[in-house]
Amino acid sequence: MTEHGRYRYTHYKCRCDICRKANADYCRKRREIRSTQDITAPHGKRTTYTNYGCRCGECTEAHRIYQSQYIARKKDQSYA
Ligand SMILES: [Zn+2]
Ligand SMILES: [Zn+2]
Repeated sequence: MTEHGRYRYTHYKCRCDICRKANADYCRKRREIRSTQDITAPHGKRTTYTNYGCRCGECTEAHRIYQSQYIARKKDQSYA
């Protein structure tokens, strides 16, 4: 016997309050996740990569460059 929740809502067509609410919560969460993916920040910036989780080519490249510069800086410091 599955507990009441979204699984019962989708698989057993249970429409009790608990299951309906669980499904609504799930849908809302999914909407929230999707809205963070609609990124309005400028692309090609590391902050867009880290803060907004954008993984487009430009942002990934910006992040990669930052990482390599950061590593290079750290190396310099250890030799100083
Ligand atoms: Zn139920
Ligand atoms: Zn991007």
